[in-house]
Amino acid sequence: MRFRYHQPIPNFYEIENPHHPQTTITDDFLKEFTDIAVASRFAGLSYAKLGDEFKSEWEIDWDNIIILKYPMSEEILRMEPSREKCILMDEEFQEVGAKAFALADILRENGFKADLINPLDDRVSLRAIALQSNDAVITRSNMCLFKEGLNLGFFMIETSIENLPFKTENELEWVRDYCSTCGVCIDRCPEKAFDDEGKFLRKLCTAHREGCSVCINFCPFYKRGYEKVKKRYSRMKK
Ligand code: SF4
Ligand code: SF4
Repeated sequence: MRFRYHQPIPNFYEIENPHHPQTTITDDFLKEFTDIAVASRFAGLSYAKLGDEFKSEWEIDWDNIIILKYPMSEEILRMEPSREKCILMDEEFQEVGAKAFALADILRENGFKADLINPLDDRVSLRAIALQSNDAVITRSNMCLFKEGLNLGFFMIETSIENLPFKTENELEWVRDYCSTCGVCIDRCPEKAFDDEGKFLRKLCTAHREGCSVCINFCPFYKRGYEKVKKRYSRMKK
């Protein structure tokens, strides 16, 4: 069992899954759904189509995943690791979780099967699913980076919708190379959670025990944003 400071989220569904779920969403309704998600706190959506190998590795039978990405509060991220910080992070997680249930209800109401994946279920890694979206990479500091930011938490909905705009290629692969030239997180980490070769040492990282976010606050992807770092990387490579 992994240690977590988040508490389980109560069940907020108000609508049952349809008996005969639809499998095709229109562009208009997907746009409307995305707009509602963004208006209700989320930075954007990503989509993962899970392949047979992945499903068999994790012993799951989900096919289509909608990833709801929310920006964690900058004010909380700036706090020193503490019990108070962990409580605030959990409160934010609970608040956003309730909104994720409401979004699943909107899909159910419109004829789609939609189940929120329990983010505290140790049988499956949400990060592993996030990587299946081809819309994210893991940085040197072991953070899951999407274009919308490094400070993202996420919830996921498993759905009957087959025609989501799944990506087949990952445009963020260059980030690994950029990380190999940067190393700010190694210099700033108060726990020295990296080995001599700059490899992340999970056991020493206190992000999930005490809410450390020092490396996020100093990371160029957080300070400058994805597009600016990408431009800088392109100039470096000329
Ligand atoms: S601080 Fe630098 S090396 Fe560390 S994750 Fe961010 S970009 Fe990568
Ligand atoms: S201990 Fe803090 S600074 Fe070091 S890797 Fe973990 S989250 Fe980043």
